[in-house]
Amino acid sequence: SAAVSTDDLVAWVRAFRDTVQQHKDELTRLDSEIGDADHGSNMARGLDAVVAKLGETPASAAELFKTVGMTLVSSVGGASGPLYGTLFLRMGPALSSDEVDAASLGAALRAGVDGVVARGKAELGDKTMIDALSPAVDAWDAAAGDGATPAEAARAAAEAAARGRDATEPLVARKGRASYLGERSAGHLDPGATSATLLLEALRDTLAG
Ligand code: ADP
Ligand code: MG
Ligand code: MG
Repeated sequence: SAAVSTDDLVAWVRAFRDTVQQHKDELTRLDSEIGDADHGSNMARGLDAVVAKLGETPASAAELFKTVGMTLVSSVGGASGPLYGTLFLRMGPALSSDEVDAASLGAALRAGVDGVVARGKAELGDKTMIDALSPAVDAWDAAAGDGATPAEAARAAAEAAARGRDATEPLVARKGRASYLGERSAGHLDPGATSATLLLEALRDTLAG
């Protein structure tokens, strides 16, 4: 269908928590190679705190994402907490109307990713979550512009995120802890690009269901 309900968005957040839990050890292993081995536990802790706050269905998408963003900012100490928190905090105001469709959800995702860029100053190719998020929003918009449903746009976005994640492997990191390794950061997938791909895959799976 063309409409995305607040229940769908709650289900997305819960699905993200579930897939991060399932991939927690993998995310931490990736971060042990080029960081400080806490990305899986950071994300799992933050998303557990988020799910604990999701009691009754929030009144609106904007309220949901405000709660998610504020909880991630306050419960995750690492770089990823404020960055994912900003993503959700910026998505909320972009979804202030009642009707969420492929175009408005794409615009919200773009506002969120723009917020991550403004906060973290990473560019495409710096070997960060932006390498998955930025191609994902571009793919979303291209699909939505061609008349895709939200489910179809999410499928395109998840594919683009996974390609962006895979493309981080040969890169030398220029932002975050991995940048301290210089050339030795090459040859490893970026943990944040990997969790960001899980975020888009959770949306794809939620909207497909
Ligand atoms: P920390 O590095 O503080 O331990 P995490 O391990 O939870 O935090 O998260 C690391 C991930 O955060 C990296 O893999 C990268 O994708 C992302 N990241 C780090 N710095 C930035 C930045 N400035 N902009 C975008 N993403 C970043
Ligand atoms: Mg870390
Ligand atoms: Mg850390």
